[in-house]
Amino acid sequence: MKNQKQLIIITGPSGVGKGTVVKEMLRKDNNFWLSISATTREPRQGEIDGKDYYFLSREKFKEMISENLFLEWAEFAGNYYGTLIDSVKERIERNYKVILEIEVEGAKQIREKFPDNISIFLLPPTQKELENRIRNRATDNEQSILRRLKRAEFEIKSSQDFDYLVTNENLEETIKKIINFIGN
Ligand code: 5GP
Repeated sequence: MKNQKQLIIITGPSGVGKGTVVKEMLRKDNNFWLSISATTREPRQGEIDGKDYYFLSREKFKEMISENLFLEWAEFAGNYYGTLIDSVKERIERNYKVILEIEVEGAKQIREKFPDNISIFLLPPTQKELENRIRNRATDNEQSILRRLKRAEFEIKSSQDFDYLVTNENLEETIKKIINFIGN
């Protein structure tokens, strides 16, 4: 890859608002491109295959791991998630700033393999607020909600491993800070 600073990692616990932040980044600058991940989790209502994720069977996902098709992959709350190498490479070569919206284990893998990225960890204003956001999403079952909450504690503990920490309280403020960190 030519310029790894073109790789922007947005990470942080489930429910912190990564998706909303990334959507706003994409709206503000045509030069950003969001990598579409593969996952074995079931699509939520309204999610579209090839747009939100590539929804795959566990079997297919494992086959792709053995074929080295992922830049990184991780298991999260009982499912696999991974970033596809080819599409990211192609966009980097076309000079896009590629956004990876991923959980912390995958983010750490990327940081080890491509140290020249920029990583941003989004923190919730409070633990309670995070729980409310996860619960209000109402698309996950109770078991998945509990797994995500437990996982969030672990994820927040690793927040110091990333370049920038942003408490996501106000969307506009969060975006301003991120754009400032990334530069032009
Ligand atoms: P969700 O099931 O809520 O869509 O995603 C669960 C978690 O997996 C979120 O923290 C999300 O950022 C993360 N995730 C999504 N795609 C990837 C990926 O390709 N790799 C990794 N490591 N995590 C991902």
